[in-house]
Amino acid sequence: MRYAVIGAGLAGLTAATEIRRADADATIHVFEATDRIGGKLFTVPFASGPTDLGAEAFLARRQDAVDYFTELGLGESIVHPSGLRSLVYTEGQAKNLPAGGVMGIPSSSAPVVHLVSEDTARRIDAEGDAEAIDWAIGGDVNIGALVRERYGDEVVDRVISALLGGVYSCTADDLGMRATVPQLAEAFDALAEAGEKTTLSAAVRRIEDARPAPGAGEKPAPVFGTFRGGYAEAYEALAEASGAEIYLDAFIAGVERSGDTYTVVGGGEPASEPYDKVVLATPAPTTALLLKKIAPEASERLKSVQLANSVVVGLKFDSGAGLPDNSGVLIAADQPGVRAKAFTFSSKKWPHLGERGGALVRASFGRFGDDVAVRADEDDLVDWALDDLQEITGFDGREAGLAEIYTQRWFGGLPRYDETHLDTVAAVRGHLDGVAGLEVTGAWAGGVGVPAVIADARAAVGRLV
Ligand SMILES: Cc1cc2nc3c(=O)[nH]c(=O)nc-3n(C[C@H](O)[C@H](O)[C@H](O)COP(=O)(O)OP(=O)(O)OC[C@H]3O[C@@H](n4cnc5c(N)ncnc54)[C@H](O)[C@@H]3O)c2cc1C
Repeated sequence: MRYAVIGAGLAGLTAATEIRRADADATIHVFEATDRIGGKLFTVPFASGPTDLGAEAFLARRQDAVDYFTELGLGESIVHPSGLRSLVYTEGQAKNLPAGGVMGIPSSSAPVVHLVSEDTARRIDAEGDAEAIDWAIGGDVNIGALVRERYGDEVVDRVISALLGGVYSCTADDLGMRATVPQLAEAFDALAEAGEKTTLSAAVRRIEDARPAPGAGEKPAPVFGTFRGGYAEAYEALAEASGAEIYLDAFIAGVERSGDTYTVVGGGEPASEPYDKVVLATPAPTTALLLKKIAPEASERLKSVQLANSVVVGLKFDSGAGLPDNSGVLIAADQPGVRAKAFTFSSKKWPHLGERGGALVRASFGRFGDDVAVRADEDDLVDWALDDLQEITGFDGREAGLAEIYTQRWFGGLPRYDETHLDTVAAVRGHLDGVAGLEVTGAWAGGVGVPAVIADARAAVGRLV
């Protein structure tokens, strides 16, 4: 059997590995448009050690991902964060990020009282008495709009957009609730089904009440993990396990179907031979383009998925003296005068990076609809990063000795999971149901996080082989 996988990001490499596991004799060709594998996983060889400038962690609470990496032989490489708290910079001060709630959305004012005005705190506490939300079971709503309406702008701008922005490169106003915080949408469903009053505080409380209390003296399991040698460990292990022939600088411009076989257009010599099965593991707009001839309706629908650009600047300093003892700081969306959206104090967050000495900081810029940073000069980006870092923390990066810099622009970094996204994905999958021998996967299809991308790629191959 001959397989073509388009895209050598996490989804494509996982798909290739799963095909190999299911069919040891398969011929697998992976076509990658750029000159390297990994896509949004990108480990850069800093002199001080391998450093991630794309994804930097994964949700270690997802046991399926931990098991998968362990099966790949990476169990010993998985490391966990220090557990230092994160901050949010708002009203000109760095304050503790609220604990509890759901994605920062509280059930009472208590966790956010240090971040919002007294009026907002009163409004949060009175929300349960307000009229019920008109909730459509199974549907989705704009999460920013709903929280604004119930709790006011400060909660959205200072907490929710800062937190969701870190994951999706979008403010809360560009995201759907079920698409990004599904457990909250499910709590609303449950309230509505039980005939209980549908308020935001009640939905959040429902989730909080269902959380198991930690046992006495029990150390909570780490929420996040990463690899000692960076994500390169994972994408290289996947490439190896797949046994696929991987073609770099192999841009695929189209996919055609003739009877039971497929031809991929572009990609050089091997692409001219037909394939029995094809996996498209490319970002949504590219997948739409590749589906144009074989599944025009799916292609048309997928075009509506938009992407958010962002930039990561990795900064290595000779000295970390004066950098706060925190994992990082998120910038509130209503904070004027700061260009960055977040700083990760990587050498504080990850003990294995701290061991290298000095300080490692990741500055992140750009949200959906704001492309100033992604188009800025590198010198400007570095200046903005150093100025913002100093304003927020007092840490003078120029004085600390800037030893290494790497700027990575992520054009089309992440798909926007707005309130129409889940319907779009379901419709695309529906249109592709009758197209035998073809599967689509990737961050747009089943969630942007690393465990979700792996799970979606595995499910896609499960259907294919
Ligand atoms: C800055 C940033 C930070 C992130 N941080 C985290 C994090 O800490 N934790 C987490 O869980 N997730 C994180 N994510 C999300 C996660 O990294 C991505 O969702 C995931 O890596 C996407 O994998 P993918 O294979 O779907 O897509 P991609 O990585 O985009 O791979 C698609 C591949 O297809 C190739 N391609 C495109 N068009 C063609 C074509 N026509 N022909 C051939 N090849 C083509 C691309 O070059 C690319 O290599 C982050 C994302 C970004 C951008």
